[in-house]
Amino acid sequence: MERPLDAALQRLAETDVLLVALDFDGNISVHVDDPQAAGPLPEAAEAIEALSALNRTSVALVSGRAIDSLIAVSGAGDHILLAGSHGAEYRMEVGAPPLSLTADELADVERLGAILREVASRHPGTAVETKPAGHALHLRNADDDVALDAQHDVRRRVLASLPGVTARPGKDVEEFSVMAATKGDAIERIRAYVDASATFYSGDDVTDEDAFRALHDGDVGVKVGPGDTLAPFRVPAPTDMALVLTRLAELRAAFVRSR
Ligand SMILES: [Mg+2]
Repeated sequence: MERPLDAALQRLAETDVLLVALDFDGNISVHVDDPQAAGPLPEAAEAIEALSALNRTSVALVSGRAIDSLIAVSGAGDHILLAGSHGAEYRMEVGAPPLSLTADELADVERLGAILREVASRHPGTAVETKPAGHALHLRNADDDVALDAQHDVRRRVLASLPGVTARPGKDVEEFSVMAATKGDAIERIRAYVDASATFYSGDDVTDEDAFRALHDGDVGVKVGPGDTLAPFRVPAPTDMALVLTRLAELRAAFVRSR
């Protein structure tokens, strides 16, 4: 691990109340062709369990996945806080009401689905994922030229029919939602919920930039993989992120024991 990152982790580990917030896919899990076959790297899962067991330390997963999908692939127990659908859905308070949409919003979700299914039917290898507040068109398994054509097609059609929806272009995915929530909103909300004095965040995709933007002085942001980022630190791959989390868990455990 590079020395500046290690030094930042040492400072972070000595904060009063620590929030460790993590993107899931491509961050603590490797991207796979079948999204339902994803799972956390064992070393990352171990570090998450170790961190969440420590006093005044909380772990949250902040994902574009719907909460149900996130629970299924992450195996996250109730001690892990969850933000799904890019901050439109949460699992924090026990018994909290599920996401509720207005009749107009539900109608827009339906219309989005119809547009995306129509585009997918003409572009082999693309697939539609239904979420509580929107739909996503997955391009990962389509040939490059087909994916590019589907991307242009779906953006044009959604913009023409549903100009009020939020578009979230990602890695090999075009997502649209009737809710404008971002991962930055998720960071704000979870930070306030646990009353964190400092936050760690890591992620690999474009939508993670909203979360990096929401970080304060003294927080630590780590981008995984290539691409422009606001994060001050970067590691190449999820296996490296697992090492970062293992190191943070060691440092935090030592600090919690010492006070
Ligand atoms: Mg990701």
